[in-house]
Amino acid sequence: MSTPPSFDYSAVRALLVDIDDTVVRFKPGVPTDSLFGALRQAAVRLGGLTPAEAERRIEEVKKQERWWHWSDFIVALDVNPKEFWRYAVELERKNLEPTGPEIGRALRRLHKAGYRLYATSNNPSSGILYKLSIVGLATIQGAPLFDQLLGATELHAMKWEPGYWKKVLAHTGLDAGEVAIVGDDPRDDLEVPHSIGIAHTFLINRHDDLSERDSERVTHVRGFDRVAECLLASAPLPQGKAPAVYAAA
Ligand SMILES: [Mg+2]
Repeated sequence: MSTPPSFDYSAVRALLVDIDDTVVRFKPGVPTDSLFGALRQAAVRLGGLTPAEAERRIEEVKKQERWWHWSDFIVALDVNPKEFWRYAVELERKNLEPTGPEIGRALRRLHKAGYRLYATSNNPSSGILYKLSIVGLATIQGAPLFDQLLGATELHAMKWEPGYWKKVLAHTGLDAGEVAIVGDDPRDDLEVPHSIGIAHTFLINRHDDLSERDSERVTHVRGFDRVAECLLASAPLPQGKAPAVYAAA
């Protein structure tokens, strides 16, 4: 028998959503060098560069920009951005898939109920967008379900650093007690954010029911429907209204 968690979800106003292996994953057996493969191919096919010259320019950007964006490479390789993204998304569709079919449905329920949604990821925001676009939750131009895309590039820190999570709160103006996390990594999505005071994580595991390990600081879920159920059942926000923290004084 599982014990119900004692966490009170009613204070939560915003959900911090991990991307890799939470929303989107690589299909089994495909290479996981992210967009770099697409960049190398596009530089040759669309940009007319030799493979050696493409590689040289990619390495140059990596050397110069510690917190790079995909746009740094697109400009350095001199490929047409629109053509590049069309090419890359088509290519990556073969490599990436959503982790489950319910994600869009659950996130739309939460969004409609007034919860703020933020993507929290070690990808830069452009990487978050292309991954979300592959699973039908965004386009390269934007992600209307999400209030902000909090990429490591934007915050100059990685998710395994406590500083990343401190900056998430600094960037959004939310208290630690108003946010909950949904993610798959016990260190990056639970231990590290918990260490700076973020009270609760929905830890997602598609394969096993680990709910008997639920506690005040973690709810184990098999998918996003359970996240929506927990939050909406606890204290539904007024339909279509922003959380009170944003209401005009
Ligand atoms: Mg992850």
